[in-house]
Amino acid sequence: MNTVIILGLTLVALLVGIRRLARRRRGPDREFDWRPAELRRAPIAFSERTFRTTVPFNLTARLDRAFSLAGELVLVELKTRHRNNAYLSDIVELSGQRVALQRETGRPVRRTGYVAVESPEAGNRKVIPVSLWSEESIHALAKRRQAILTDARIPRATSSCGLCVKCPYQDVCSESL
Ligand code: SF4
Repeated sequence: MNTVIILGLTLVALLVGIRRLARRRRGPDREFDWRPAELRRAPIAFSERTFRTTVPFNLTARLDRAFSLAGELVLVELKTRHRNNAYLSDIVELSGQRVALQRETGRPVRRTGYVAVESPEAGNRKVIPVSLWSEESIHALAKRRQAILTDARIPRATSSCGLCVKCPYQDVCSESL
C-alpha cells in the first residue's frame, strides 16, 4: 500500500515538473504573464472588437482588449515597437476607444488604461499605465480635426522631426523639419 502511495506521489511530482519545464520552454503565456497585477485574474470582456457611437459625435474605435474589473472596464492597447514607450497617439487612441465603448455598452470605462508594448526582438511585453482624456477633450480634438479638414482652421506644424520623416506631405510642406 505504502509503495502504491509513494509511486503515486512520485508520478504527481514528475507530472508537475514536466508541466513547469514545458511552461518555461514555451516562454511567457501570451495572454496572462504580461498582464499588470490588477488584471491578472480579470476576465476579458471584449477582444479585438469595434464599437461605434454617434453621440456626442461620430466615432468608431476598434479595441484590442477590455477587461472587467470591479464593475468597470479597463482598456489595454497592444503595440509592437522597438522602444518601450507609450506615446500621445496611444493615449488619444485609447481615449477614443473609451468614449465609443462607454457610449455603445453603457458600461463605465476606467480613466486609466494600459499600453502593452511588445519588443519584436525579445518578444516580452512591458505594460505602461496611461491616463486617458475625458470625453470632452476627445470631442474638442474631433472638432479641431474637422475644422482643419474643411480649411476652417490652419494646422500647427509638428515639433517632432521624427513625424516629418515618415510624413507623406514632407516634399510639399514648408514646415517640414
Ligand atoms: S512634414 Fe509638415 S505636415 Fe508632415 S509632419 Fe512635418 S510639419 Fe507636419
